[in-house]
Amino acid sequence: MDIPDHLMDGDVMDTTEVHETTINMDPFVLGMRSPVAQTKHQKLSNGDRVAHSRSPSFRQEIMTTTAKPALEQLPYSTSQTGLVYDVRMRFHVEVRPEVNQGVHPEDPRRIYAIYKELVDAGLVDDPSTVSLAPSVLARIPTRFVTKQEVCAVHSERHWEFVISLELWDNEDLHNGGSQMDSIYLSKNSPMCARLSAGGAIEACRGILNGHVKNAIAVIRPPGHHAEHDEPMGFCLFNNVPIAVKACQNEFKDTCRKVLILDWDVHHGNGVQQAFYNDPNVLYISLHVHQGGKFYPAGPKGDHLHCGEGPGLGKNINIPWRTAGMTDADYVLAFQKIVMPIAQDFDPDLVVVSAGFDAAEGDMLGKCHVSPAGYAHMTHMLMSLADGKVAVCLEGGYNLRSIAVSALAVTRTLMGEPPGRLATTIPTPSGVDSIEEVLRQQAKYWPCLYPKDPSKRIKQTEGERIHDIVREYQAGWLWENLGMSDLFIAHSKTSRSFTNQVLATSNHSESRPLLVIFHDPPDLVGTPDPRTQRLELHNTWLTDSVKQYIRWAYDRGFAVIDVNVPKHLTDLEETHEHAEEIDGKKNIDETQLLAKYLWDNYIELSESKHIFMLGIGKAYTSIVNFLKENDRCRERLTKVIGFISDECTLPSYKSTTDDFLDRWYRDASKIFVATGHYVWEKHKFKPPGKKWGTLQRSDYNDMQEMLSHHCKEVTGILTVLTDDWEPEAAPVVGASEGET
Ligand SMILES: [Zn+2]
Repeated sequence: MDIPDHLMDGDVMDTTEVHETTINMDPFVLGMRSPVAQTKHQKLSNGDRVAHSRSPSFRQEIMTTTAKPALEQLPYSTSQTGLVYDVRMRFHVEVRPEVNQGVHPEDPRRIYAIYKELVDAGLVDDPSTVSLAPSVLARIPTRFVTKQEVCAVHSERHWEFVISLELWDNEDLHNGGSQMDSIYLSKNSPMCARLSAGGAIEACRGILNGHVKNAIAVIRPPGHHAEHDEPMGFCLFNNVPIAVKACQNEFKDTCRKVLILDWDVHHGNGVQQAFYNDPNVLYISLHVHQGGKFYPAGPKGDHLHCGEGPGLGKNINIPWRTAGMTDADYVLAFQKIVMPIAQDFDPDLVVVSAGFDAAEGDMLGKCHVSPAGYAHMTHMLMSLADGKVAVCLEGGYNLRSIAVSALAVTRTLMGEPPGRLATTIPTPSGVDSIEEVLRQQAKYWPCLYPKDPSKRIKQTEGERIHDIVREYQAGWLWENLGMSDLFIAHSKTSRSFTNQVLATSNHSESRPLLVIFHDPPDLVGTPDPRTQRLELHNTWLTDSVKQYIRWAYDRGFAVIDVNVPKHLTDLEETHEHAEEIDGKKNIDETQLLAKYLWDNYIELSESKHIFMLGIGKAYTSIVNFLKENDRCRERLTKVIGFISDECTLPSYKSTTDDFLDRWYRDASKIFVATGHYVWEKHKFKPPGKKWGTLQRSDYNDMQEMLSHHCKEVTGILTVLTDDWEPEAAPVVGASEGET
C-alpha cells in the first residue's frame, strides 16, 4: 500500500491548531439542555504560524513571560461527551438459531443492555429517564457508511458481498453464514453493518469537529476481525479502521496521526492488517493469545508482529500467555508499554476498539477486568490527543458485564474519576507477557527499556553464565567431594544435560544413595536498567543445594547430582534471550533423563536406601517418572520435594491403581511455599493424598526454604538409615574441610 506524502510521519507539523471558545448552538448536538462552551479547531493561516508546542521558542516564552495569564474558561470540562446508539442496529439476527445452542453470543440485546444502563444512570435524555444528571450525553445520529468509505479498508468485492445479503433468501443466508469463520447473516445485516461503521465515523467526526469532547459509540456488529476481503469473528465491516481513514481524509491537518487501542480480549487481526505498513496509525492490542491457540488462532497476534516497511514499530501486540488477566495486568501494560509509546507517538485522535470480553464474568474471555479497570485505561488515554478519545464497541458477551463496564468508561469520559481498582498485583504470567513485549518493542521505541543486548553479546562472543556457573559447581564438587561427570548417552537424552550430571565414585556401592534433581542456582542482582549490565560485584550466586550434598557426603552416602537447565536446546548456541517457555518440554526431557539414570545407574546400585530429592520444577519430572515406572517403588525409601510459590504442584494420582496415592503419601515429604496456591485452595479442607505428604513452609523463596528445612530433611534421612553404619567419608583433594 502506498502512503501519500502528507500522511507520512514527521516530528513537527507545519500547521498548528488553537482552541477557540465559542457557544455551540448546533442542533447536531441533540439532547443538549443548554448551550455550553465548546471548542472549535481553527487552523492558523500561513501568516499566523506559531511554533510547534515543543519547540525552543515555546520554552523561551514560558521562561520570559512574567504577566499573569488571563482567566480562561474550561473548554474541555464544560463540553459534552457524545453517544452513538441506534435501535436499528439490533436487527442483525440469526435467521435460524441452532436448536440447543442457546442464544448466539453476539446477541442483539448487547447494545440495548449498554444503552439501558446509561439511561438508568441518568446520562441519556431518553423519554423513559426519570431524573437526569446535570450534564447529559450529547446524542450523535448515526448514518449509513458509504461505499467509498468502506472501500478505503475493504475490497470492492467485500462491499458488494455484504450489500447483496438483503436479496438472499433465508436458506442461503443460513448456509452462507455457517460456511464462514464465526459469522451469521441476515437480510438486515447490510443495514446494521452500514449503521455500525457510519456510527463509528460520526463519533470521531463529532470530536474532530468540536461538537463533543469525546464519545462512545454503542454499535454492532463489531468490526475488528473483519479483514480486507473477508468477514469473520462476528464482524462484517471493520468499523474503527473505516472511521480512522474517513477522518484522516476529511481532517487532513488536524487528524494526521491516530492511535487505535484495542482492549477486546481477542486480537484485532483486521485492524492490524489494515494499517500494517502505515506509519501514521499506531495499533496497540492487548489480547489473550495462549501461544496462538486463542481466537483468532495463529501467530499474527504474537509480539513479533510489529508492522512492516514505514509502519515497522507501529503495530504493538501485547499477547497474554494465559487467560485470567486482571486489572493489575492491564494497568501495568498501560504504564510500561502503552502510555510511554503513545506519548512518544503523540496522536491527534485516540480510537478505542472497546470489546468488553476481558471483563469479569465474560464466558469467552475468562479474564477479570473490572469496570474500574476499564475506567482507569480510559482515564490514561484521555491524557493523549488533547482528550480526543472515541470509544467504539467491539465484542463482550455477558450482558451485565458489558453494561457496567461501558457505564464506567462513559462516566470517565464525562469527567468522573475512575473507581478503585479490584487488584493491584499483576499475575506472574501477565508480567512475563509484558516483559516479552518490552524487549521486542524497545528496538523501535527510544523511550522503552531494556534494550535487547543480543547483538552486543554476539560481537564479544559472550558465554552463558549458566554454563560458567555449572563449571564452577562441577569444579567445587570434584575438588571437595570427588564428584565427577556421569556418562550420559545422548541418543536417549537431551544434549543440554551434558556436564549436568555429577556423581560420587561410590554410587554403585552398598550405601545410601541420594539422587538430587534441582533447578539451577539463583543469581541475585539488579541489572542497570539502561545498559542491562549486571555488575559482578553486586551479583550473588545462591546455592543452598550444596549443604545437602555436603551433609550426605560427610555421612558416607553416595550422591548423584542433576542440574536441570531452565532452557533446553539441541540447537547450536545462540546469543539471544532464551525464554523458558516450553515448560512441558523441560519436564518431559528431565523425566527421560531420570529413567535413563534409573535404568543405567540407580537400579544397578547395591544400595538398600534410595532417596530422591526434587527441587523446584525438577520435582515434577520425578513425580511423572515415578508414576510411569512402577518397579521403582520397591527400591525407593523416600521422595523429598521442594515447591516454591512459582512452581505447580504435581499429583501422584494413577488412573489404574487406587492404592498408589496412599503409597505416595507414606513415601513422600513435600515442602511447599507458604504463598503457594494449594494452601489457598485447601483453606478449609486439607489437600488429598495424591499430592503426597505436604508441609507448609514459612518461606516462599526456594533458597530460604532449602536452608531452613535442611536440618529437618537430614533428620529424616538419618532415621531412615539407622541400620546403616556411617563410614568416614573418603578424603578428597587438598581442600577438604572447606564449605
Ligand atoms: Zn472479542
